[in-house]
Amino acid sequence: MDLDYTPADDAFRAEIRAWLEANLPQAMRDKVLNHKRLSRDDIANWHKLLGKKGWSAPAWPAEWGGPGWTEAQRHIWDAECGRIGAPPVLPFGVSMVAPVLMKYGNEAQKRRYLPRILSGEDWWCQGYSEPGSGSDLASLRTRAVREGDHYVVNGQKTWTTLGQHADMMFCLVRTDPAAKKQEGISFLLIDMKTPGITVRPIITLDEDHEVNEVFFEDVKVPVENLVGDENRGWTYAKYLLGHERTGIARVGASNRELAFLKGVALRQKKHGRPLLEDPVFAARVAAVEIELMALEVTAERVIASASNGRGPGPEASMLKIKGTEIQQALTELMVDAVGPLAAPFDPAFLEGEHDHAAGGDDDAAPLAAYYFNYRKTSIYGGSNEIQKNIISQMILGI
Ligand SMILES: Cc1cc2nc3c(=O)[nH]c(=O)nc-3n(C[C@H](O)[C@H](O)[C@H](O)COP(=O)(O)OP(=O)(O)OC[C@H]3O[C@@H](n4cnc5c(N)ncnc54)[C@H](O)[C@@H]3O)c2cc1C
Repeated sequence: MDLDYTPADDAFRAEIRAWLEANLPQAMRDKVLNHKRLSRDDIANWHKLLGKKGWSAPAWPAEWGGPGWTEAQRHIWDAECGRIGAPPVLPFGVSMVAPVLMKYGNEAQKRRYLPRILSGEDWWCQGYSEPGSGSDLASLRTRAVREGDHYVVNGQKTWTTLGQHADMMFCLVRTDPAAKKQEGISFLLIDMKTPGITVRPIITLDEDHEVNEVFFEDVKVPVENLVGDENRGWTYAKYLLGHERTGIARVGASNRELAFLKGVALRQKKHGRPLLEDPVFAARVAAVEIELMALEVTAERVIASASNGRGPGPEASMLKIKGTEIQQALTELMVDAVGPLAAPFDPAFLEGEHDHAAGGDDDAAPLAAYYFNYRKTSIYGGSNEIQKNIISQMILGI
């Protein structure tokens, strides 16, 4: 891709590439490259390692411990992490609640939570969606009633990603049921160890435990855990969603998956020739590659405008749609490339408990589960249909 990198950027790329090569544990890298499942410890340990180096939050300002990287450097970081197969840094702390705290939190909240997010000490989860309140998020009903120096929370959240491991949840609650629905919502920080919280697993199509239901029964949350003003939570919630959608583009990881796809399609044969030389299959791969190149440029533009301090804005919706369409197209092509070899389902292999897949090909065996898992991407972070509504209203003015 033609980008105007300076010699300093090239030196930066060499520095982080060398650091990643030396510090990313091989076992984690193998899991990422081979579509196996990362454990809680894999994710937490990688975050802590980056935290020690000062690289866990590339977009944070230096004031709060960010590395002070330019947009070009952040782009290089994303690309290099994607290329090498680094585990993701979970967005819930670093790129979702942290920007809200920086902009709307009080000093005590910033001083308490931001360093712990940076170091990976606290694992955060997102308590937005509820049964019946996903796309229509503002209809949420989880209730918080103020009683003296705390709120009492009752209700239910759902689809809470990795909530089973979380120390903290940022949670939207209804504090004024009489107000217009957007005007009666508040933004609370809830310690997941508080009595009255129950986390129940939801097992997804690929038989993984990634999402949960979370129930609140008379959960006492100190008033100091309210972010900003009571009943103004909708403003903070929307600011956070823009940050969530920028992260979902995952350009670096898609570049790695594209390379994986090409490798698989070179090894698979059609009429004795590599599948990648089949004109129809090659054209499908090229179409995704072109989309990915275009997304990369768009992502850079959005990051650059977000750095003016106004937040990512509705352009983030474009990244969300395109990024997730590309991720899904890549998984479809992988499954098409290996055909029936993707069929054997071997959870123990996916968990890394044995080295070779039962009854199949080690590259191909995880691909069906990976394909099924990625159906989620066009739903979470606000469904792609909802993103199209946002674009039509906010960008096109329809
Ligand atoms: C794997 C996964 C992880 C998630 N993680 C989290 C999490 O950690 N925290 C959290 O709070 N939430 C999480 N979510 C929830 C996610 O944000 C919601 O699923 C999403 O917002 C859609 O809401 P819904 O599921 O209630 O579907 P609905 O809102 O019921 O939508 C159903 C269908 O109707 C369409 N639709 C609805 N309204 C409109 C409209 N106005 N115009 C056009 N089409 C429309 C939708 O696009 C969708 O196709 C996660 C979801 C998934 C699948």
